Amino acid sequence: MFASFEAMHDETCPSVAHVLDRIDGGLARVRFPGGRVPAAQLRAVADAASRFGNGTIEITNRANLQLRGVRPEAGADLAAALMAAGASHGREGDLRRNVVSGPLAGLDPTEIADTRPLVAAIVARLAGDPSLDALSPKAGVVVDGGGRWHLGGRRDDVVVTALTAERFAIRAGAGLPAGGVTVAAGRVPGAVHQALLATVGTRDGGGRRLADAPLPPGSHEAVTVGPLGTGPAWVGGMPPLGRMSAATAEAVARIAERWGDGEVRLTPWRGVVLGGAGLDGSGGAREVAGELGRAGLLVDPSDPLTALVACAGSHGCTSGLTDAPADALAVAFARRAEGAPPLQIHVSGCPKRCAQQAPAAVTLAATAAGAYEVWRAGTLVGSGVAPGDAVAMAAGGAQR
Ligand code: SF4
Repeated sequence: MFASFEAMHDETCPSVAHVLDRIDGGLARVRFPGGRVPAAQLRAVADAASRFGNGTIEITNRANLQLRGVRPEAGADLAAALMAAGASHGREGDLRRNVVSGPLAGLDPTEIADTRPLVAAIVARLAGDPSLDALSPKAGVVVDGGGRWHLGGRRDDVVVTALTAERFAIRAGAGLPAGGVTVAAGRVPGAVHQALLATVGTRDGGGRRLADAPLPPGSHEAVTVGPLGTGPAWVGGMPPLGRMSAATAEAVARIAERWGDGEVRLTPWRGVVLGGAGLDGSGGAREVAGELGRAGLLVDPSDPLTALVACAGSHGCTSGLTDAPADALAVAFARRAEGAPPLQIHVSGCPKRCAQQAPAAVTLAATAAGAYEVWRAGTLVGSGVAPGDAVAMAAGGAQR
């Protein structure tokens, strides 16, 4: 069993310093503000996954990485290795790095603002305040620069939305007026800092989350599939269900160093984006997409496998009532066989649905061993459905 840190640390939220017990071993989460990972750090994560875990790496919907199957005796060595690589800033430091941003910042001609300097300024501001050590490990910030792959519809403790390149709206679950505030870019880090401080000591230690609040009028529809294939200055790929082997992560790091700018951008849609001067839509970009495909990533946005979300299910979580990943893959393969387009499908091994914030087009949520509720766009259309029948319903868009 892994030793538990202080009681204030939420048992349901892993980090590098707080490895959680799961059915398949320890679960450790490595946080990367804005999802930006230097290739050398991705290589270090891949190495750690092989040496201390079962070699499986997951990309989360906050654009972080998770290592599965960490051995009980390996927690301290894992933390030391990731800190030495710069991928972890220690127990408290990592608490203040929960900042999600769009993966195409600076690469998307349709974006409203390049959020990279803002994310760096927010992280620097939060890093300097030890009173944030009492933050809930779940406390997080979303910084949305707009554009084709915007983060509209995402909710967290603090949400920053670009109105122009220089002005930002900030909404928070606590510490700001109910309707939020609008501030110039230079004042965003201070406002985010104050809003996060206001969450300390409130519900669950993490504040009244915006996840509980209705979205304001005018919010964008959530984007359901991340950037894949080639773009004007980027190449995107996604491991099926956001899960990859250490060897695949190592290959992605190598491709980023050889062809891109040496950075791997994790996406909140559980994929990766590489950017760089050579990835300008020319033959080089297509070659890189081919390399990502050969490494095991999905690069075709028309593939039904790209729109799947599944939690760890019964093989990775004590609460799991069904093999959610296997059922999700069965849905996608059925849609592939029929030539059906991607449809966002979320398969959850229990009613908690922790892998997905907003309702998907089709949701299968297990409510008993081997039995799903089937939801279509937030409406219940079946209950007590056996996995095989639920897969067939989901493959058909949740028609009986
Ligand atoms: S949704 Fe349930 S089964 Fe799936 S990971 Fe979360 S708690 Fe475990």
